[in-house]
Amino acid sequence: MTPAVELREVAVHFGRTVALHGLDLSVAPGETLALLGPSGSGKSTALKAVAGFFRPTAGRVLLGGRDVTDLPPNRRGLGVVVQSYALFPHMKVSDNVAFGLRARRTPRRIVAERVAEVLSLVGMSGFRDRYPRQLSGGQQQRVAIARALAIRPPVLLLDEPLSALDAALREEMVAELLRLRSELPDTAIVYVTHDQGEVLALADRIAVMRDARLVEVGPTSALYHRPAESFTASFLGASNLLPVEVVDAGTVRLGELRLAASSAGLPPGEPVALGVRPHRVGVREYSGAGLAARLVAVQWRGTGFRLDLELELGHRLRAEVPAVDGLSVGSRVDVSIPDACPLVRVA
Ligand code: ADP
Repeated sequence: MTPAVELREVAVHFGRTVALHGLDLSVAPGETLALLGPSGSGKSTALKAVAGFFRPTAGRVLLGGRDVTDLPPNRRGLGVVVQSYALFPHMKVSDNVAFGLRARRTPRRIVAERVAEVLSLVGMSGFRDRYPRQLSGGQQQRVAIARALAIRPPVLLLDEPLSALDAALREEMVAELLRLRSELPDTAIVYVTHDQGEVLALADRIAVMRDARLVEVGPTSALYHRPAESFTASFLGASNLLPVEVVDAGTVRLGELRLAASSAGLPPGEPVALGVRPHRVGVREYSGAGLAARLVAVQWRGTGFRLDLELELGHRLRAEVPAVDGLSVGSRVDVSIPDACPLVRVA
């Protein structure tokens, strides 16, 4: 199948700053690909190269198999939504949404139909005559999404679309975006964010970015459960990274403890670590049955407790547990690590 979006060795330099090293990525029609990474990792730059906001220093951008590297944004036929909504303040909701269609000289009857259709799609039918200032942040963002969808783009680019909203509204908008996605089964979505919660809920695949490079790309659940890179393990799910000794293909040793680990085909001889999610770490009163550790700090987090531990082997470890009966800061404890944690490459 021809990809909806394809980046071929796309590099972007701003003077001496390399915002993106040669990036190869493709997005299938109907697929949601998230670009996930910390601030400054090159996510927005990649998205803007697709949108056409600047010309890449090297490489090509293809949309539906067509090379658009030299086309301006308005001739790429994409829907784009940015963090700050960027609605036209002096235009009513309906005119904001109609803007792209009118720019394409779409007949009035069709403009009216489409505006009604996309406003209903985002649950904003009752707001067509309001001005942006008369809407909440979440409502403005819905209008921005409706505006992007009005031209029925094959590709929707979303750049941190929820980051200006408060936490409760963000949750609601994630549910809304999931619904929207199921109503637009053929639309490819490129979703830029640093929020792993949004990514896990929304993305079919994730491309993890760091320092202007792609770290790793894969299906969401595979990347969460079986990351190959230590950066992915820590950024997507806050894994502890424990240096271990590889015994054989499926076994590692951590002090006296032998554990079965899942290695996603890492070549032998590479420096590796075991990626252990805090909620999978078990902590009990000391009896000598597990790895001995000292409890360094306890924080109550509402749904449970976050514990900072210092293994007597010499590593720090974070755990999340539902209860801390009988444990207090300074206690000697037993730590257990489950089998089948992923073995990751240490960058
Ligand atoms: P992210 O979206 O992951 O936060 P960006 O893609 O915005 O990261 O930025 C990647 C790098 O490129 C950063 O170091 C940033 O400072 C730099 N950069 C981005 N846009 C410009 C620009 N217009 N001029 C100069 N440097 C830029």
